[in-house]
Amino acid sequence: MTLGEAARAAASRFALAGIDTPEADARALVREAFGLDAARLIARAGDAADVHALARLEHLVLRRLGGEPVDRILGRREFWGLDFMLAPETLAPRADTETVVQAALDAVGGGDRPLAVLDLGVGSGCILLALLSELPSATGLGVDRSFGAARAARANAERLGLGPRAHFVVGDWAAALGRRFDLVVSNPPYIASADVAGLDREVREHDPVRALDGGADGLDAYRAIVADLPARLNPGGAAVLELGAGQEPDVARLARQAGLRVDGAAWADLGGVPRALVVRAAT
Ligand code: GLN
Repeated sequence: MTLGEAARAAASRFALAGIDTPEADARALVREAFGLDAARLIARAGDAADVHALARLEHLVLRRLGGEPVDRILGRREFWGLDFMLAPETLAPRADTETVVQAALDAVGGGDRPLAVLDLGVGSGCILLALLSELPSATGLGVDRSFGAARAARANAERLGLGPRAHFVVGDWAAALGRRFDLVVSNPPYIASADVAGLDREVREHDPVRALDGGADGLDAYRAIVADLPARLNPGGAAVLELGAGQEPDVARLARQAGLRVDGAAWADLGGVPRALVVRAAT
């Protein structure tokens, strides 16, 4: 069997199983099993497949057929053009969350200032590390209540060469922090508890529920974060919060109740959903 035949065989099993993107998934798993990048897979499609690699491929294919998403099988996912390792305790970064990065860069006006950035619920580190990659003089602190997430974020910072500017602690939102920041970002859990069971199976079974479940009305994390922001933001500082669908009015109201200023309408994601709300300390 050649590599190309192995990829086609995997793709047709995925198609039969009703998987949405059978060819792309098969190619990703073949590359992983054979240790190839995309270009080398094409160049080597006619080569005979090594039996050990074929055995590895079969194992990966069975995991995919069992409903595990490709990113979880590979243990990594691309975000903002960077490669992030995942852990069981981290949400797989979503493309929609790049809207938060974009809004945050706009809120601080880019540039080369020594900004202090705080990420609450840092997970894999994707938001914080994307920001540090764009802001060369900024330093970042990532907080997560999960030790496994904080450890994954630390490992990602090292792999991306951002280790010296990134620090991570395990904690309950900002409760243990006694200092202020120029920029605060967060993608908190925001799904209402009753809706978690209705999420896509691949999300429900493979993303950590603690990163998804936002309590009875989905707003518990925002209540905790927003109430603390006035004590966390430097004068002129901004916070950018990812929103779940339909949450803009509620989160804006919570921010105003905490004495913060809402900085215009939320930034929409590629699907047109208001996704990133910018709030500022009232001056
Ligand atoms: N966007 C995620 C989802 O719908 C939820 C992430 C979150 O709760 N912060 O799968």
